Amino acid sequence: MSTAPASRVRRGRRRPAIGLVSLGCAKALVDSERILTRLRAEGYAIAPSYQGADLVVVNTCGFLISARRESLEAIGEALAENGRVIVTGCLGAEPQRILEAHPEVLAVTGPHRTEAVLEAIHAHLPPPHAPFLDLVPPAGLKLTPAHYAWLKIAEGCHNRCSFCIIPKLRGDLVSRPMAEILAEAEALVRSGRKELLVVSQDTGAYGLDTRFAPVTIDGRERRTRILDLALELGRLGAWIRLHYVYPYPHVDELVPLMAEGRILPYLDIPFQHASPRILRAMRRPAAPERVLDRIAQWRRICPELAIRSTFIVGFPGESEADFAELLAFLEAARLDRVGCFVFEPVEGAPASDLPEPVPEEVAEDRRARLMALQERISAEKLAGRIGRIEPVLVDGVDEAGRLVARSRFDAPEVDGRVLVEGAAPVPAGTILEVRITGADTHDLFAVPAAEAPS
Ligand code: SF4
Repeated sequence: MSTAPASRVRRGRRRPAIGLVSLGCAKALVDSERILTRLRAEGYAIAPSYQGADLVVVNTCGFLISARRESLEAIGEALAENGRVIVTGCLGAEPQRILEAHPEVLAVTGPHRTEAVLEAIHAHLPPPHAPFLDLVPPAGLKLTPAHYAWLKIAEGCHNRCSFCIIPKLRGDLVSRPMAEILAEAEALVRSGRKELLVVSQDTGAYGLDTRFAPVTIDGRERRTRILDLALELGRLGAWIRLHYVYPYPHVDELVPLMAEGRILPYLDIPFQHASPRILRAMRRPAAPERVLDRIAQWRRICPELAIRSTFIVGFPGESEADFAELLAFLEAARLDRVGCFVFEPVEGAPASDLPEPVPEEVAEDRRARLMALQERISAEKLAGRIGRIEPVLVDGVDEAGRLVARSRFDAPEVDGRVLVEGAAPVPAGTILEVRITGADTHDLFAVPAAEAPS
């Protein structure tokens, strides 16, 4: 269940309370936040438990078979614990699948259909008669901690990667107007967010559906494209981190903004593989040598650039030679952070019908070998930062009393931490200068810069 405030009694009548279970990726989390924000604005209470809720919304993920299974289990749990359930999210794009498993759900709506979810809620649990009784924070309700937030800039995707059904579930790319994104970003920064994590299915493609339409922002002539959006976001004074950037040539234009300190020197680019044969089968850009050249060029422009990526191993037809190409690419690219997934067939994805499936144990073995290589690279790169003074953003305190923080090169939840010893307690969201004193495979150790021995 979400951790939003519990319901309260007002004027002797308890307000209708909604519980929300949010599954899946950051994009789904943003959808959940929008639903919660609208519900609070309409006067509903948000229940932190099944028992306190009059109705439960389950925001599902339908990407992988395992995620579908988890979503169906979550719906079953909500039905067992509460009994009144509305389903939304990616799995909601296939209502018959949900209704076959759980015919008693009240309604099913698809992904990013906030209006449809609200209509279904209104039909089954009418809003209270006095909406807007409570102040909704101008930045909306967030499921992330109070010092950072995800900022969704578009819905859907115009690519057609063969292993992915996101375009089928969420449709083609629809970019949010830049003024609307900037208004949300400003409200988030005003509400205390120190870091905004820019997210969409394909962040580099922002504005493509509008043909990069011209727009005026505070008298400045801009176009609806990622470079201009990054420039505008960079004026807000928060850390701006870009996620899910497809490796288009125009990504090159973002790197100078990172070198100038306008946005964080961080690129999350899902390369997925490095064998041209496998990349073609994935329907992804297939020129790894050009990617290596571009990474080298980016690092010349912005030497401290951190690159995060994800890869899929065990894709149908992946030979040992293809996998060796991937390892060689990783060795040459020396990426900072890497995630690796074993290919999983997804119903409706063209790749699921490809011949030559890779046996699961072979794919798992390749994943382990890839991660072992990356762990060595990661440890070497982190060791190279010992002695540096860096700003870090504090996320909290651990059981040992150390500040748990992140550098500009680490996104929350997926990347490493900087554990700061000997610092006075400070609130989450504080930015501190620290001196790096140690490193392991994924994390760094540090002391406050002012107290560090020189
Ligand atoms: S870029 Fe490819 S993997 Fe990512 S959402 Fe679009 S189609 Fe799916």
